[in-house]
Amino acid sequence: MTTEAPSPTLGDVVAVLERMYDPSWARDWDAVGLVCGDPDSPVRRVLLAVDPSPSVIEEALAWRADLVITHHPLFLRPVHGIPTSTQKGRVVHQLVRGGCALYTAHTNADVAAPGVSDALARVLGLTDLVPLSADDADPTDKVVTFVPEAAVEKVIDALAAAGAGELGEYQRCAWTATGTGTFVQGPPPASLLGIAEEGEEGATGPGGAPHKAHRPHEADREPGERESVEERRIEMVVPRHRRSAALAALRLAHPYADPSIDVYELAPWSGPRGIGRVGTLGTPTSLREFAMLVAEALPGTAQGVRVAGEPTSVVQRVAVCGGAGDSLFDAVRGSGADVFVTADLRHHPASELRDRAGDGPPYLVDVAHWASEWPWLAGVANRLEGAMDELGRPIEVHVSTRTTDPWTFRLPSPGGVVR
Ligand SMILES: [Zn+2]
Repeated sequence: MTTEAPSPTLGDVVAVLERMYDPSWARDWDAVGLVCGDPDSPVRRVLLAVDPSPSVIEEALAWRADLVITHHPLFLRPVHGIPTSTQKGRVVHQLVRGGCALYTAHTNADVAAPGVSDALARVLGLTDLVPLSADDADPTDKVVTFVPEAAVEKVIDALAAAGAGELGEYQRCAWTATGTGTFVQGPPPASLLGIAEEGEEGATGPGGAPHKAHRPHEADREPGERESVEERRIEMVVPRHRRSAALAALRLAHPYADPSIDVYELAPWSGPRGIGRVGTLGTPTSLREFAMLVAEALPGTAQGVRVAGEPTSVVQRVAVCGGAGDSLFDAVRGSGADVFVTADLRHHPASELRDRAGDGPPYLVDVAHWASEWPWLAGVANRLEGAMDELGRPIEVHVSTRTTDPWTFRLPSPGGVVR
């Protein structure tokens, strides 16, 4: 860590976190964001954990952390006080006394891409990940305009600088095609009708609006004379909240004072964010071997790994959901997954899913809730450290070493049936 570099404020770190895990992505019932802390105070050390449990707070204060980031909220329901006579009140007092802030990224981190289930999928070696239950993509427009050849690159550059043309990891994406715009300068509507009756094409440009006042050679044309101009049609996607900025940039860069511009509001469709992930193992494997892979990839817990399905069944397509995932069984069936890895599976939902499946897929692999979400922390540490370095405000980020899975030991059932 570069000690000479100025420390960021808590507000700076929160701003970076909220670009990674936008609070607006959280489910309605959730409670995410800053729980306590002064946005103006400096942050040098950040501890990451799944739960804001007493052992984690103790670890944070012993390390003199300025901020603890947890996946699970400390408070999910409204409270009217935080006296130290309550466990959660004590946590808040300890944090405030220790000068340590607390921040939560919960369902907004679940649905993020990359998010909690991406991390689980990646430690299991899954590739080609898609959401198990996708959220709608962000509202998006498509902007279409028609530009003479010489100005095409300038207009695309201007739109890209205003936020257009971003598709996943790609920037400045645009589609173009060359065509011919045609117009008649200054004729009354009757003249236009006359042209149409002659079987000619209409007198409007490809965008449906003549540019007559601003076409080339305007001064040379006689009113009523037909003109054709070769132009390129440019299409670019724009986040809807950037529409005004993109259109302003387009108008500034376009060589015509009154350019033809169409804006289409794209229908909502599945985006990259959502709950759970589905991916593929490199090679088909038996359910038993896959369960062993899960056990080795995740931190150790008393529960270990529980499996529903014949051990010799072959699996390759895998659905995962960090945390409790039994509300996603319909999506699992619809995804064609051979096996579903999640946590907190209860008797009735699990039994019903397996009864319906007969001897076939989807099989179930149940792990400890804490273990299923723990892989996410390393990714947060890397991304947060990297982002703060880029800002010239480096911080030190550690993943908590405390196990916050509540279960501490497990016995085989009497007469234990062990496969
Ligand atoms: Zn959870």
